[in-house]
Parts: sequence; structure tokens; C-alpha cells
Amino acid sequence: MKFNLNFNDIPDNYLFAEVADRVAAYTKAHPDKKVLKLGIGDVTLPLAKEVIKALHAAVDEMGSAATFKGYGPYEGYEFLRSAIKDYYAETGVELALNEIFVSDGAKSDLGNILDIFSQDNTVLVPDPVYPVYVDTNAMAGRKVLFASATEQNNFLPMPDYSVKADIIYICSPNNPTGAAYSKAQLKEWVDYANKSGAVILYDAAYESFIEEKSAVKSIFSIDGARTCAIEFCSFSKTAGFTGTRCGYTVIPRELEKDGMNANRTWLRRQSTKFNGVPYIVQRGAAAVFTPQGRKETEQNIAYYKNNAKLISDCMDELGIWYTGGKNSPYIWLKCPNGMKSWEFFDYLLNEAQVVGTPGAGFGANGEGYFRLTAFGSSEVTKEAVSRIKNLLKK
Ligand code: PLP
Repeated sequence: MKFNLNFNDIPDNYLFAEVADRVAAYTKAHPDKKVLKLGIGDVTLPLAKEVIKALHAAVDEMGSAATFKGYGPYEGYEFLRSAIKDYYAETGVELALNEIFVSDGAKSDLGNILDIFSQDNTVLVPDPVYPVYVDTNAMAGRKVLFASATEQNNFLPMPDYSVKADIIYICSPNNPTGAAYSKAQLKEWVDYANKSGAVILYDAAYESFIEEKSAVKSIFSIDGARTCAIEFCSFSKTAGFTGTRCGYTVIPRELEKDGMNANRTWLRRQSTKFNGVPYIVQRGAAAVFTPQGRKETEQNIAYYKNNAKLISDCMDELGIWYTGGKNSPYIWLKCPNGMKSWEFFDYLLNEAQVVGTPGAGFGANGEGYFRLTAFGSSEVTKEAVSRIKNLLKK
């Protein structure tokens, strides 16, 4: 037996562990202080009532021989794929049912999709970035290049024709920076990918936070995307499914090369390695698209966005440079007074008892930046914002 030695080259996933360690040490030394957490990337509001109702009804169906479900279709039940298809149609994106694959979340599919691509592809990921893109490729020994996201490009890197990449990751709205590409900017990426024969793996996990008209919810609203893009979506942040687990991946039938077709190859891969998402969960996910489900999930998103506004208003007041907050639950800010990410982390923890996430943990370009999230309760967010203001106004 030989291990996959590529695992030796992947850095330990220390970011959130290090954050937890420093918070635990602080709490132990100062048991009387109340620590407020704005570092989490997980939702906190419960599932919508309409979703719970659908989950209960599906559980009952499983208890009766007449309605019991065994293995379902690899690509997901039609009732859910139809609801997804209709959701896209609302913004003018026409999909065929067999272009939609229901998954147990975006993370799994973002990693698993690499099965259909050769090892010797060169990969381009933005820096800073959601670490999954880099680590899944490093596990397979692929060469990874970075597209530099900086204050100069508002953390939205654009194509560089001198760089040759085969697999390009785009996450918009972005984690960790909260920045979202405009339609015109995405068109440039689509043109670049089509010209160079590359594929764009488009992570739309935060699409439901988009409010500005200039930003787009789906890459398939861009002309030319059907020949170069795959889109990954999730019910996690849209509808609080982080623990319930459901998402979907869209692979257009036109995405093909060298006689191979991405859509067919993915179905072949799924039918070998995946036996579908539980029926009960798919019923819960479908309820997100009902009028009542939509209303309730939109209320939850509005709640988080209100928190995001409290944080971004605070940054505006303090004159701190940031991205995100508008089309995203993340606020990515420049550490004040030239502080480094971990230095600011310690300063905020010690002086205001507020926890965020040091940008340096998301890549080299994250140094000197800091991520705050809107997923806390509104009470905690308000108090944290007031403490940050008091500390940094001095
Ligand atoms: N993509 C991005 C950018 C994320 O931030 C996350 C979760 O934090 C995911 C994907 C994972 O989503 P899921 O819960 O659907 O696996």
C-alpha cells in the first residue's frame, strides 16, 4: 500500500482551530468577560416553518408502504429539479431538467467534479479564497496558480491572457471577501474561458444575498457560459440547510471537448459513486421554492443582511476600507493602522471581546485584512458593532 503523498503538501487546516484556541485561552483567563463571535460562517436561524412541514410530511410518507421511497434517481427527484428549473427561469435562464443535479451540498460537488477532469490540468483560483478549491486540487497533485485579488481590483481579479489555465474557480458573491462580479466582468471571464478552452467552476453558494442589479445570480445569464461553465449552488446559506445538507450543480449539455461531454460524464460518475440525496431532504428543499417557503427564507436572509448593514455602516462611520456587506453576508475589511490580520484579531479580542476571522488564513493576499460575518443574532451584532466603534474611534 502507498498513501497519496499529495496529502503531505496540504497545509493543516489550522485557521478556525487557531481562532478557537485563542478564544478559549482568552475566556479562561477572563471568565467575567462576554465574548461576541462575528467569525462564524454558519447560519444561526432555524429552518423555515414551511420546510419543517414538508420534512415531517416526507417522514410520514416513508412510514407507509404505499408512499415509501427507496433509492431515488442519482440526479435528484424531478419535483425538486423542476422547482430549480422554474427558479432559474424567473431570471431568464432556461435550463433543461437533465442539466440539474441535486447534491448533498456545494462542497461535495466542488470537490467531486474534479473526477471528470484530467490530473494534468492547470488550475486558477483567486487569492484570497475559500480553501476547498486549493486543497481538493492539491490532493490530486494538480498545479494551482493564483489570480491576485487586492484592494486595487476591489478583490475581483480579472482574466490575464498571459496566464494559461484549464480549470478556473470563480466564487461570486465571494467568501471571504463578499465581493460580487458585475455582468460585464463575468462576461470577460466567460470570453477568456471560451477562447482558451478552459472550464469555469462557478460557486454561487451566496447568490441569494445578491441585491444590486449589476451583480448576477447565475453565470448562465452571461452569453457564452453554456460552453464553458459549471455552476454550484447550495441551500445552506439560502435556506439554513448547513446541517440538513442539500445543493445542486448545473452542467449544460453544450460543455464538451475532445469527444467527451461534461454532463454525461458527470452522470456516469454520480451513478457509480453517489446514491442520491435523501427523499426527505429533497422534499424539504423543494418547500424552499413554494410561495410561503420563499417568503420565510427571504425573511431570514433579510435578517442577516440587516446585520451586514449594521457592520458596513460601522465601517463607513470609522472610515475603514471594506468590500462585501451588500450582496453578501461577509464584510472584508482592511485592518486599521496597518495592523496584520492576527494582530488585529488579538487587539479586537483583548480590547473589545469581539471575534472575527483573520484574512491571512484565506491566502497570502488576505494578510492585513479581516472577515466579519452577518450570521450572528441581531443583538450580538449590534453589541459587537458598538464595541468596535468605541474601540476604533479613539
Ligand atoms: N462554497 C462556499 C464559497 C462556501 O463558503 C461554502 C460554505 O461555507 C460552501 C461552498 C459549502 O456549501 P455547502 O454547505 O452546500 O457544502
